Amino acid sequence: MTEDTDRVAVDARDPAEVFGLLAAEARVDVLRALADHPQDAVSFSGLFAAVDAVRDSGNFSYHLEKLRGAFVREADGGYALTHAGRQVVGAIHAGSYTADAAVDPVDVGWHCQRCGGRMTVAYADGAASMECRDCGSGARIPLPPATVDQVDRSAFPEAAAAWYHQRVRRTLDGFCADCTGRIDAELVSAPTADGPSLAEFSCPRCGRTATLSGTTIATFHPVVEGFLVEHGFDTTAHHPSQIWPELDDTAVSVRSRDPIALTVRFEHGGEAVSVDVAPDASVETVDRSPVE
Ligand SMILES: [Zn+2]
Ligand SMILES: [Zn+2]
Repeated sequence: MTEDTDRVAVDARDPAEVFGLLAAEARVDVLRALADHPQDAVSFSGLFAAVDAVRDSGNFSYHLEKLRGAFVREADGGYALTHAGRQVVGAIHAGSYTADAAVDPVDVGWHCQRCGGRMTVAYADGAASMECRDCGSGARIPLPPATVDQVDRSAFPEAAAAWYHQRVRRTLDGFCADCTGRIDAELVSAPTADGPSLAEFSCPRCGRTATLSGTTIATFHPVVEGFLVEHGFDTTAHHPSQIWPELDDTAVSVRSRDPIALTVRFEHGGEAVSVDVAPDASVETVDRSPVE
């Protein structure tokens, strides 16, 4: 056996084969029954009693055996979910594969950064959209349908903003919001008269790409979030573009054009916070100080 200290061992199996293991009602019921007891192992007899789809214990062991390894592990004389098993049950609850939902556009009373038009928040086809009614610019954020079911129409814009916040947080922390792979990031354009600066985030593994403005990257830095919260602005409940016009000043300057590097400065209530965004879209330095 060779030892390779630089790499983490990952046992990759054929996805079609692994997902095929779930193609029986009894097996999905086993995962749900285990998820009902997240802290404890469940005994064979307890599990057999909880699953109605199969009434013969020999047949039941056959199904359980199929799940063992990928989705179910043995623990404390019984059975428990593996991480993958918990993810499958989570996806069932989120309705990612099985549900559908829609929310008609809600007028959220904030103005488009590009044209000053009215912004709306809506949900369709598995994604929340924050969109300008007049020029169509905005953002589209994948969101599981069963999460949408849990909020009222009036609370939906705030829930969508919170979800946006957690997707952006994950992207800025360097993980693909879809597949959890490591992400590559780069500032690709400086601000122009027509639009904001842009950074591109791409996942080499699943191919997902996302763009964020330099101002958004700066807004989500913990020091800036603290500054904003202390001045009464909650970035988890509002899209950043809702907050910027409310501040005394928000400005972006270009520190370098090749490669692109930016400084974003927010000012409010006699204080300013200045954020240097590097060419790789990371935050280099943050400085918070009173305005002279
Ligand atoms: Zn617009
Ligand atoms: Zn990915």
